[in-house]
Amino acid sequence: MQHQARKRFGQNFLHDESVINAIVGAVHPLPDEHLVEIGPGQGALTRPLLRGCRRLDVLEIDRDLVARLQRQFDGEAKLRIHSADALQFPLSELVENGERLRVIGNLPYNISTPLLFRLFEQNDCIEDMHFMLQKEVVERLCARPGDDAYGRLSVMTQYHCDAEALFEVYPESFHPQPKVTSSVFRLTPHRQPPVAVANLHDLEQVVAKAFSQRRKTLHNALKGLLDDDGIEQAGVDPRARAETLSLADYARLAQALQGKQG
Ligand code: SAM
Repeated sequence: MQHQARKRFGQNFLHDESVINAIVGAVHPLPDEHLVEIGPGQGALTRPLLRGCRRLDVLEIDRDLVARLQRQFDGEAKLRIHSADALQFPLSELVENGERLRVIGNLPYNISTPLLFRLFEQNDCIEDMHFMLQKEVVERLCARPGDDAYGRLSVMTQYHCDAEALFEVYPESFHPQPKVTSSVFRLTPHRQPPVAVANLHDLEQVVAKAFSQRRKTLHNALKGLLDDDGIEQAGVDPRARAETLSLADYARLAQALQGKQG
């Protein structure tokens, strides 16, 4: 029976074989690897991923799709189907023998940011992630200082991971078609944080405040959090604007904040 796509679960199913092959090619699963797919849907990526790996766990929130996948993949010993919300599911439960998981998904676009941050919290058990999201979000994840798309999402993502956009996917490759162009990207968690931050909350706070008024100088944007002395102590010019600062600059501002509070 035909599955009626559910908007509330961000369902846009891939049907374009060349895109499916390109995603699986970018992941390039190896026979000893353990993969996790978020939102397998009707199994477009599941089948080719399963061929290449040792074990595949899939997390699907839609119970009708779970039942469908169970029928479709009946007897596949390498596959475990979880009826689960990826926002709640602890990936550490899947880890066997200290391995790192490779996470893949044509993600539900409506929960993209909370889902990414939930995954960043679990970086310790993740080798890498290959996802598809709206092109505009992927540009933000990968943007560098000075780029139009550079913002809070860029800084916080790049604190946790290396972010690399791979290729674009057009609406015709899905059913139903989304309104926007999509993009496939790779996130590789840093083994060591690229900059020293004593308290992640300080970094989050300073980045959020700086970008809440991105066109203003830091002198104005950081009012109430850090004064000019504090900003200068971090080696940053209070006349600079949020969009020009590097991750290292933000890390030093977070340290200055810590010094002020501590
Ligand atoms: N992978 C399939 C494909 O490429 O055709 C489906 C992709 S569709 C964009 C997103 C999938 O994620 C849907 O199957 C949807 O039901 C599922 N989903 C949505 N929210 C979820 C959540 N919180 N946890 C797990 N799966 C979710």
